[in-house]
Order: sequence, then structure tokens, then C-alpha cells
Amino acid sequence: KKEYTKSNSFGKQIQLQKKIADIVSALRKNYDAGFTREKEFRIKQLYAMYDLITKEEAAIANALKLDLHKSTSQSIVMELGIVANGIVDMVERLDDYMTHEYPATNPAVFLADTAQVRRQPHGVVLIIGAWNYPVQLTLLPLIGAIGGGNAAVVKVSEISVHTSALLAKLIPKYLDSKAVQVVEGAVPESTALLKQKFDFICYTGNTQVGRIVMQAAAKNLTPVLLELGGKCPVIVDDTVDPKIAATRVAWGKTINAGQTCIAPDYAKEFVKHYKEAVSTLFEGDPGKSDHFCHIVSENHFNRLNKLVQDQLKVSGTVEELGGTWDKNTLYVPPTILTGVGKDPKTNPIMSQELFGPIIPIIEIESVDEAIELVNKFGPTPLSIHPFSKNRKTIEKIISKVNAGHVMANDCLMNAAIEDLPFGGVGESGMGSYHGKHSYYAFTRPQAVLIRDISHDLGNLVRYPQVSGNHNSL
Ligand code: NAD
Repeated sequence: KKEYTKSNSFGKQIQLQKKIADIVSALRKNYDAGFTREKEFRIKQLYAMYDLITKEEAAIANALKLDLHKSTSQSIVMELGIVANGIVDMVERLDDYMTHEYPATNPAVFLADTAQVRRQPHGVVLIIGAWNYPVQLTLLPLIGAIGGGNAAVVKVSEISVHTSALLAKLIPKYLDSKAVQVVEGAVPESTALLKQKFDFICYTGNTQVGRIVMQAAAKNLTPVLLELGGKCPVIVDDTVDPKIAATRVAWGKTINAGQTCIAPDYAKEFVKHYKEAVSTLFEGDPGKSDHFCHIVSENHFNRLNKLVQDQLKVSGTVEELGGTWDKNTLYVPPTILTGVGKDPKTNPIMSQELFGPIIPIIEIESVDEAIELVNKFGPTPLSIHPFSKNRKTIEKIISKVNAGHVMANDCLMNAAIEDLPFGGVGESGMGSYHGKHSYYAFTRPQAVLIRDISHDLGNLVRYPQVSGNHNSL
């Protein structure tokens, strides 16, 4: 029986592999036909995506509610609104983006020659999305892919079950399936996809899988954009009003119940204000609030629980701010851990990304110590959040910590400025997108030099047999 099951699952794998290979080869044929590169086609698809998010707003908000207990207002601001802005921005600026650049030339070329930089689409691209902002993280890269003139396979995350199923239904309904195909599923489907040759891969998710994606891409020398996670430290000094700092951090830490790649990870000396801020943000009790998200799955709920329990065995005191952990509703209360040890080797909470509404707080003596700890704790942060009124302190942190983004005196707001590149460094990612960076990520610069060939007088100097040997400058 075991043998039969084995061969049966092998048969399923072959079938899946063939199905995926067929999808990719059909897209490649379509891409080669050239229509995805036409400006009119790109615009039409972007408008269709706009229709998708506006006409299906209620269904999408409902799916997000089911997956993450996300409130409609959060879904609109943090998911649909960001996608809508991205579409409008791409449509408005596409003409500019598609206009060739004319670089400064030198005497190697002449007036009648044409030197240009053109942006070419990569070709057939793969977008692998994550579950924490399942709409934004799937559609925002797709805006770049379509705007750039590519054909795309979109792999939606299996963890955000309802939103993924809905997107898999809506994308083919609104967008042209000759240019965009959706693949649903989990690791087998992602693995089968990664066996295919793509011209570009954009992956959002954890760093471990990021390594798998990059290894698979290396086989075909496919360029990658990796949007990964990691720790996002907060450093608060004593020049700022702790109430303002604590409120901004509490907002950044509790939005999406801390399941945000740029959610702050640790801070100093503002526990009292943090507690007050959480209470104000969620009308006294996050457990009863429609505005406080829940954890996406039981696995992640258990992971968080184990992380806190393992940490408490080593050091720290826990304080839960409203209600208790509830496996049925996957509710995890905003949680503060104080008195946590600084050594990342012995304190699991200081070495791992938390991805939940839990904030460990450690006391530090100086900004230098904070910088040393952040660099020692690694991995390289996606975002670092210095809070200070002293610009020199902020500049010092910028120059000494190698982070993807610097969000000083606030949290998350950098993601609201379209043209600020969004992306990590080292373990937190590679490459960036958002706004014009999406267009640049999903296209490549192509050097074009078209020379005049009506005569050859100006070129005689480079032919040694005509002008004599050049043995020195
Ligand atoms: P996830 O479990 O949804 O995985 C992401 C994608 O990877 C899914 O589509 C999944 O099918 C695929 N995948 C999973 N295992 C795979 C494997 N073995 N081989 C190939 N593909 C596989 O999401 P996640 O990883 O739990 O996402 C959370 C992480 O993503 C956090 O670390 C977070 O910080 C990071 N993140 C980063 C950004 C960013 O923009 N930098 C944004 C959101 C989330």
C-alpha cells in the first residue's frame, strides 16, 4: 500500500509539473507575440485591476476579515488603497517611464548617431505572494509586472485561505489570462513553479524560503527581487516625548496584530505609555475590538505561544494587554516582555522575527550600545526606527546600521510614500519596488546605440592600419 501511495503521489507530482509547464509555456508564447509590451495593453490591464479592487471591494474586505480579522477600514487603507494608488501612479507615469533616455555622449559617437537607454520587460515573471497583506503583496508587484510589459504567473499564499481563493477567482475574471495566470496551492505548487525557467522572480516571504527561491533562480541565472523579513528594531532616546513615541510604536506594532514585515520589534523605557496607547487605540480591550487583527493560522498562533514560553524559560516578564490567548479565535493580546536578556544566542525572542503583537523591551545605556546590539543581534533589519529629536543621533544610526529602510520617529509610514524604494538588505531582502521603483524592478535597462553608416570619415582614427599604431595615450 505504501508503494502504491508513493507512486500515486509521484504521478500527481508529474501531473502538477506538466500543468505548470503548460501554463508557463503558453505565457511565453503570448509574451513572444508582443502584445503585453504595447502601452495600450498595459493601460487596459491596469484599469482592469482597478475595476477588480473597486468593484470587488466588499468581497475582498470580507475575505480579509475571515483570514485575519482585518477591519474594513484597515483593508481599505493598508491593502486596497495602496494598490489603487499604485495603479493610478503607474497609469499616470507610464508614458514617462516608457520614454527612452538619451545619455550624455562623447566624441566616440557623432551627431548622426543615436545612443539610448530603453527599459525592456524581463519577459515571463513569477510573483510569489505572502499572506500577511495578501492583496497588497500580490497585486502591488503585479502592477510593476504589467506596467513593465511582462507576462506573469502569480502564486497566491495558501495561508490566507479565503483571500487567496478569492484572488484566484477574480484575477482571471478581470485580467487577460493570456498575460496573467494564477496558481493556487502550497509548497508542491511553489516547488513546481520554481523548476520552470522564468525571466524574473519576485518573492515575498520568509528568509528561509527566500534562499530556496534564489537557489532555484540561480540554475537559470534568473534575476530575483526578494522581499524578506527579519527584526525591525526601535531605538528610543530620552530627547523624545515618550508618550508620542509609545503611541506611534504601539500603532505600528499592533496593526495587523504585528504581522507586518516592517513592524517594530523592540524598544526602551516607555512601557507605561505603550500600555495607555494600546488601550486608547482599541477602546480599552483589543480582544473585543473590530480594529485588532487576529493571527492568520493555528500554526502561527502556536509558533508565537512557543516563542514566548521558550523566552520566559530564559528571562523576562510577560504582560498581556487585554484578554488572553484564544486558540478558537486565534487572538493573541498585545504583549509586552520586559527584563529580556540581551544575548541573542540564549534569548530566542531577540534573535527571531516575531510577526505577532509581542514587543520585547530592553534597557540600554546609550545609542552606541543600541547600535552594537542591533548589529550583533542581526539579521540585517528590513527597517530601523530611531526615535530622537537629535538629528545627529538619527544620522549616526543611519550611518552605522545597515538596514533596508530608516523610518525615524514613526513606524510603517515610509511605505506610504510611493517613490521611497521598499526592500531589504542582506537577510531582509534584495532589490526594491513601489512607485517608480516597481517599474524599474520589472524592467531592465537596455543600451541601444544606432550609428550612422552613410560615411566612415570620422572613424578613421580607430583603424590602426589607416592612422598608424597607437602605442601610448
Ligand atoms: P507564506 O507562508 O505565505 O510563504 C510565502 C510564499 O512562499 C507562499 O506563496 C508559499 O507557498 C511559498 N513557499 C512556502 N514554502 C515554500 C518552499 N519550501 N518552497 C517554495 N515556496 C514556498 O509567508 P511567510 O513566509 O510566512 O511570510 C511571512 C514572512 O514574510 C515574514 O518573515 C515577513 O517579514 C516577510 N514579509 C516581507 C515583506 C517585505 O515586503 N519585505 C512583506 C510581507 C512579509
